Amino acid sequence: ASFGHFGFDDKLLKAITKAEYSSPTPIQAQGVPCAMMGRDVLGVAQTGSGKTAAFLWPLLKHVSVQKPVEEGEGPIALILAPTRELAIQIYNEAKKFARVYDLRVICAYGGGSKWEQSLALKEGAEIVVATPGRIIDHVKGGATNLQRVTFLVLDEADRMFELGFEPQVRSVCNHVRPDRQTLLFSATFRKKIERLAKDALKDPIKISQ
Ligand code: AMP
Repeated sequence: ASFGHFGFDDKLLKAITKAEYSSPTPIQAQGVPCAMMGRDVLGVAQTGSGKTAAFLWPLLKHVSVQKPVEEGEGPIALILAPTRELAIQIYNEAKKFARVYDLRVICAYGGGSKWEQSLALKEGAEIVVATPGRIIDHVKGGATNLQRVTFLVLDEADRMFELGFEPQVRSVCNHVRPDRQTLLFSATFRKKIERLAKDALKDPIKISQ
């Protein structure tokens, strides 16, 4: 497989070459075409599988054709991650490719400065990477809202649940408009995740490494 089959534009292909990715990983080869079609995806994948790019590239495609976010508006794409470390990792990967389309990315995690995150969120960004508790704090505090979110990623859902974030994850899912596209990734696939997938995804395509 090669990146040429994904229907990406030259700008993104160039950025992928620049990142020195030579060919898609299995999770990318399976997941990207499904997500590019607008389908919900349920991915069983571990860290190191290349799952971040598998959801980021279709996300960028989705966001890049929308009207830019104005001051006071919430993001178009929201990525939930269990920990600060993972959120920062996703943020860095997102920035690498988001600049191709002049899209802004904000990272909001527990333990980071609420005040700084609020300022950035109020200014607006097309893409937000966040831990579940912190994004809810920001929505409650009025720094942002989820009204424009049409692309939702739940990354490492099993770890988010292990860390006790199930209520927050479900709350976010219930507040984001139902006609969104949703991608859920999890290293394991147990009953609780199955239930979340049933509640939060629409007719998902299931993929695994
Ligand atoms: P992830 O599983 O998303 O955490 O990605 C693991 C690492 O693989 C990250 O450092 C990525 O930058 C890198 N990566 C992602 N996709 C590819 C690819 N197609 N080829 C080589 N490296 C990649």
